[in-house]
Amino acid sequence: MNIRTEIFIVPLLGKFLVYAPLRRVAFITDSAGTKFLENLRRSETPRLDRQHEPFMDFLRAIHVLGDEGDLPISTFENRTFKPTEVTLFLTSRCNLRCIYCYALAGDRPASEMSLITAMRGIEYVWRNTIEKGKTEFTVGYHGGGEPTMNWEVLKESFEYAKRLARSTGMQAHGYMATNGVLSYEKRQWIANHFCGVNVSIDGLPDVQNIQRPMRSGRQSSDEVLETVRFFDNVQFRYGIRMTVTALSLERLPQSVAYLLESTRPTHIQVEPMYLLGRGKDIGMAVEPLAFVQAFMEARSIARQRNVDMFYSAARMDVLTDHFCQSCGEGFNLTPQGFVSSCYEVPGPEFEFADEFIFGRYNNDSRRFEFDEEKVIRLRDRSIEPIAWCDKCFCKWHCAGDCFYKKKHRSVEHDFAGDPRCEITRLLTLQQILEKIGQNGGKVWVEGYHTEALRRIEAQYKMRDRRKSNEDQQTRRIIR
Ligand code: SF4
Ligand code: SF4
Ligand code: SF4
Repeated sequence: MNIRTEIFIVPLLGKFLVYAPLRRVAFITDSAGTKFLENLRRSETPRLDRQHEPFMDFLRAIHVLGDEGDLPISTFENRTFKPTEVTLFLTSRCNLRCIYCYALAGDRPASEMSLITAMRGIEYVWRNTIEKGKTEFTVGYHGGGEPTMNWEVLKESFEYAKRLARSTGMQAHGYMATNGVLSYEKRQWIANHFCGVNVSIDGLPDVQNIQRPMRSGRQSSDEVLETVRFFDNVQFRYGIRMTVTALSLERLPQSVAYLLESTRPTHIQVEPMYLLGRGKDIGMAVEPLAFVQAFMEARSIARQRNVDMFYSAARMDVLTDHFCQSCGEGFNLTPQGFVSSCYEVPGPEFEFADEFIFGRYNNDSRRFEFDEEKVIRLRDRSIEPIAWCDKCFCKWHCAGDCFYKKKHRSVEHDFAGDPRCEITRLLTLQQILEKIGQNGGKVWVEGYHTEALRRIEAQYKMRDRRKSNEDQQTRRIIR
């Protein structure tokens, strides 16, 4: 019997982590254990000594051996493109001038989505919802600029979505990413109509004011905090999105503590600044190891307050072959009515737009038209063909990370690694070790494996007691 699942062996301070992501299993072993596993991996019928039997029993019990099959991964493969969620990039205008803005908001010509374009996008997902026999669809509002700067279109388009939904006994859900600099009227309307929003705030007032100043150069911290406190008061759900630069990295723990002293977000997402747009040449990239250290410290503060804090690519609970909707599932409308699969390609003037923009609304035929070949190409970009990721133990979680940023890190079309990989690996490793730690320190198995594992551990304990002197080597392998 050999190993019929993908396993990864990660060196770990003199020991090794053995990780089988598609069986949801991880354990710690030593070099003898890894050698045995390597042999097993290479050979259908390895020569087995009596001393190896307990280890084989153990591998069987935790389902690393055997034909139970892997857990399913989430994939877009073979799905018909029929989205029930539309994201509207309402405008390229913004009331802030963030120093790292990926979309260069304010530096490029203003473009605004018309109400009619927004309505066409909403009608499209509404019809798909009917055809699929579902009862709810989603309308999101996202960047390229601050969506609330095109306020009338935002309000009227969502009210239109609600009317359409009501006319067919459905529900329309609304979400938005916002910079939080909102008037009282806008805050109120959002809290009354949307299911939730993500508010970008970078932390302590001076961090926020330097990294995310107003268009006029004024400070933005007070207004953004007023917005989230308003949401807290009316019990409206929101998450916080923080961007970390070399300037703010050291104070990430204080920033998180500061925010959580006076606000109650459902979660905090923390990402290092991307080297895109205005962030490309400002020399404020974060050092990966320092980011991980600051992140861990900040996260323990968030945990004390029961707030989930995460970084997007470290997600061992997810099994997937794609990082996000950009692999041929996203239906995002640019102000001009183009269909983009990526949040960071909000117009045809953006880099790599030719790959991510795959359709548009045709006013003559009154239909959305898609370039089917592009959709197929986007779908082909799942994790499996990425050579760089093939040996990475995070591959079925991170799935190659953000496809758009990866395009910027590719050499002759092949992804050639990114400093984010180091962050992703360290934080994912930490998640796996935490699971093992919660499970007694040696092994972690999920779900249906647990009973079998308890039995085998009990057997080991009895056997260990009986043969404590003769089985030194076996125990060394198991542990
Ligand atoms: S709020 Fe968003 S769109 Fe506006 S400048 Fe900042 S990053 Fe750019
Ligand atoms: S490819 Fe990257 S930027 Fe584009 S939608 Fe996915 S995560 Fe966002
Ligand atoms: S190599 Fe990097 S991008 Fe690829 S799966 Fe690993 S961490 Fe993610």
